Amino acid sequence: MSPDLEHLIQLQRLDTAIEDARRRIAAHPDRLAEADARLSEAHERVDAVRQRLKNNQEARRALEKEAAVFQGRLTKFKDQLSEVKTNREYQALQHEIAAAQTELGTVEEKVLERMLEGDAIAADIKAEESALAAMQKEIGAEKSALEQELAGVQRALANASTRRDALLGQIEPPLIALFEQVARARKGVAISAATRDGLCSVCHVRLRPHVFQQVRQNDTIIQCESCRRILYYVPPSAPAEAPAAP
Ligand SMILES: [Zn+2]
Repeated sequence: MSPDLEHLIQLQRLDTAIEDARRRIAAHPDRLAEADARLSEAHERVDAVRQRLKNNQEARRALEKEAAVFQGRLTKFKDQLSEVKTNREYQALQHEIAAAQTELGTVEEKVLERMLEGDAIAADIKAEESALAAMQKEIGAEKSALEQELAGVQRALANASTRRDALLGQIEPPLIALFEQVARARKGVAISAATRDGLCSVCHVRLRPHVFQQVRQNDTIIQCESCRRILYYVPPSAPAEAPAAP
C-alpha cells in the first residue's frame, strides 16, 4: 500500500478516535446529572413516605379529639342519670348514652385503623431509607467510575491529538486538504474500504470495474464517484480466500 494511503487510514482512525473522545467528554455532564437525578428520586421517595406518616399522625390526632368529645358527652350523660326524675327521662338518657357509645366505638375503631396504618408506614420509611442509603453508595461509586472514565478519555484525546499533529507532518498539504474537505462534507469519514465484490463500503455504490481494479492496487488516491470518499482495499487474508486443502 502506498504510504499516502496508509497515512490517510491512520489519520482517519485518529480523527474517529478524537471525535469519539470529544463526544464522550461532552456527554459526561449529562451522565453525572442522570446519576444525580436517580439519587434525588430516592430522596423524594423517602420524603413522600415521611409525609404519609405525618398525614397519618394528623388524622389520628383528629380522630382522638373526636373520641374525647364523645367520651365527654358519655360522662355528662352518666352524671345526669342520677338526677333524672321520671322513667321517661331515664329512658331518653339511656338512649342518648347508647348512641354516644356507638359513635365512640366507631371513632375508636378508626383510631385503631390509623395506628395499624402508621405501623405499616413506619416499615415503609425504614425500607425507603435503606434503599436511599444503598442508592447513595451506588451513585457514589458510579460517579467516581465516571470521573475515572473521563480522565481516561481525556488522556486518549490528548494522545490522539499529539499523534495526529505528528502524522500531519508526513502528509502532503494538498492531500490533507482533500481529506479534510471530504471529511467535512461526509460526517467526519473521509475514507472508505472497497468491499471484495467492488462496492464502496460506506455508501454501498458499486465501483466501475476499472476503478475497482485501480483501487485494488492501493497505490493511488481514488475517490468514490458517489460519496467522494478516498478508497482503499483490504485484500482478503489467505486462509479465507483459499481454505487449506485436506
Ligand atoms: Zn462511496
